Amino acid sequence: MTYDSIIIGMGIAGISAAIYAKRSGNNVLMLEKMRPGGIINTIDKIENYPGFKSITGPDLAFQLFEQVNELKIPYKMEEVIEVTLENNIKVVKTKDHEYRALNILIATGRSPILLGLPKEEELIGKGISTCALCDGYLYKEKEIAVVGGGNSALQEALYLSNIVKKIYLIHRRDEFRADSSLVEQIKTKENIEICYTSQVTSLEEENGELKAVVLNETEKIPVSAMFVYIGYAPKTDFVKDLGITNQAGYLEVNENYETKVPGIYGAGDIIVKKVYQIVTAASEGATAAIRFSRKK
Ligand code: NAP
Repeated sequence: MTYDSIIIGMGIAGISAAIYAKRSGNNVLMLEKMRPGGIINTIDKIENYPGFKSITGPDLAFQLFEQVNELKIPYKMEEVIEVTLENNIKVVKTKDHEYRALNILIATGRSPILLGLPKEEELIGKGISTCALCDGYLYKEKEIAVVGGGNSALQEALYLSNIVKKIYLIHRRDEFRADSSLVEQIKTKENIEICYTSQVTSLEEENGELKAVVLNETEKIPVSAMFVYIGYAPKTDFVKDLGITNQAGYLEVNENYETKVPGIYGAGDIIVKKVYQIVTAASEGATAAIRFSRKK
């Protein structure tokens, strides 16, 4: 069987696309590796998505998933490992299956990156985290570090400041990249100490748990946890041979969100663009789906 469209990734971009595709009469299939909602599941509060004055990430993810079920959009929890081409048919391979479609939309998002320090990966879940919402409560009343100077680091530091005793907010430059409104809020928090022009150069552990971070090779700060928010890497390994990504692995798309391979689209955090927001991801998914549904 050949689907009209296969949507890879059930984050906001993928689900928005699926809603439009299904309502246009497309025979659509969604594939997801982990959990519907994607990175939204890790966001504490969303206050800039129209229609919701304030909603938690997991609640928005749940509502998206409910909509998928209500519309009876078929989905499978399988990780895509490769996409190949057979003339104009796209062959989507997962570990155990192969699916075919006329069009595919890649909406697999990005994963958080780490600092690349020795012991960092083995300490994930033992003091090192990239998800304040998932792990913040484990460090209630403890002293912790948050690394990064963008919107994610500052927003998550604000969330954590209501749980933990003290935060060292560690940033490599002397000014933040984050929006000024977040910077102002950070400065009002008495339990956040900003460490400008600071790099974590090594980690210290005891019995397999993080015990301290060392800044600029000299200053040791005892902490129970380090939350890393230094950006994200796109998840496009499974299309690396198709020549549709840039050097950093982001999909290059045109104004219809189509790559240079006709019938392969991209939407959300995975594409080269200027604004990485929930509302833009939804719009991109919808625009791509309207385009490929009309081509049917
Ligand atoms: P980002 O904007 O790319 O910021 C990454 C931060 O990490 C930068 O401050 C960067 O420092 C620092 N950094 C990068 N590599 C580093 C390294 N090796 N060591 C130490 N520090 C390092 O990433 P983000 O904050 O995750 O945001 C990603 C996108 O999502 C942005 O477009 C952002 O606006 C958006 N976002 C929006 C919201 C919101 O609207 N509320 C919330 C979260 C994210 P430099 O500044 O020195 O480069």
